[in-house]
Amino acid sequence: MEFSNLILLLLMFIALALAWYSGYKSQLKIKYFPQKNTNKDYSIGLNYLLNDEPDQSIDAFISSLEINSNTLESHLALGNLLRRRGKVDGSIAVYQKLLVNSQLNRTELNLIKLGLVKSYVAAGLLDRAEKLIDELKVADTDIQIAVLNQGLTVYQLEKEWEKGIMVITDLLKLCPLNQREGLQIKASHFYCELAEKELEFQHYNQAKDYLNKAVSMEKSNVRTSLVKGRIEFEQKNYKQAIKALLKISSQNASYKAEAFDLIIASYQAMDKQLKLNKYIESSLQERLSSSLLLLIIKYIKNTEGEEKAKEILSQKISTNPSIELLGQAIMLNEKSKNDFIAIKFNEILEEYLENKSKYQCENCGFDLKKLHWLCPGCNEWGKVKPIDSLLIESAH
Ligand SMILES: [Zn+2]
Repeated sequence: MEFSNLILLLLMFIALALAWYSGYKSQLKIKYFPQKNTNKDYSIGLNYLLNDEPDQSIDAFISSLEINSNTLESHLALGNLLRRRGKVDGSIAVYQKLLVNSQLNRTELNLIKLGLVKSYVAAGLLDRAEKLIDELKVADTDIQIAVLNQGLTVYQLEKEWEKGIMVITDLLKLCPLNQREGLQIKASHFYCELAEKELEFQHYNQAKDYLNKAVSMEKSNVRTSLVKGRIEFEQKNYKQAIKALLKISSQNASYKAEAFDLIIASYQAMDKQLKLNKYIESSLQERLSSSLLLLIIKYIKNTEGEEKAKEILSQKISTNPSIELLGQAIMLNEKSKNDFIAIKFNEILEEYLENKSKYQCENCGFDLKKLHWLCPGCNEWGKVKPIDSLLIESAH
């Protein structure tokens, strides 16, 4: 057993001993509960603890504790500990045993139900959690906030975005000011999820309605502009699509490369070559992430030829050194066309780049190959960013 675990268990043991003692004392006073064989359970628990069998010792201690207002905190702590140790079934059993106790008042019962909700969520028993969350909507503010947060987790797992937004609306009325921003970002992404779903079915007006709500929740959410660009493009409103996509520069320039292909396609669909050239030129004047620069180089290579692409690449490679650009530079070099080593190098490079993570969560460091709005590592929204833009940001 790890040292920190041992300390934790010893502390638990002391807390339990005190709780047991207070329970034992009240038992003497009230004589309400029939006398249990508490001494025996207690020494069995101690034995388990000394023999390094913490889970059995916890179980034994639980049964040695009488349930009343004085000992409730210890029971709740045990339920919590079991859940955190992955013993979700055991934790649910603890709460269920507490719930049938008629000696506890309404607030205490609500606290137990909150613990039970958390364990149901941890066990993936989302229907049961949802039912209990509904029951707790009339509880005290603190419990309400905690239970609404659990509700949010449930609806997010179930992808019930509308219900999630309803929960956020309730939470925004109750929560402290410093939690508002995080909730609004979440709501903005929930609206984006709904908008993307409507877009799938070509319900453009509904999708736009959701997007407007997403923007009202979080103006700097890049995703709103990307989705808006896609909707307008599909509706052949190319000018509007470009307008929406260009907004990303002011929202969060790290994501500009995400909009590049759609911006080019929009200009091309309108047959506005001059404006497209202007867009490319002005992009080249700005500070670029290497992924955006690479997209521009490839575009120039296809439209204006290799010489022009090479010229721009040689101008930019010293300010944007990256392995991707070096690969391009080698491929654009006439001498490498028939050079076995250069060709081999590029094959290896391409394979390497294919397997390389291109995005990273700035919150938890989780690496991803594709852009995810919800980080699978830490469950935060909008924290995954293109890696090369992170490098640029940290370098300046
Ligand atoms: Zn993360």
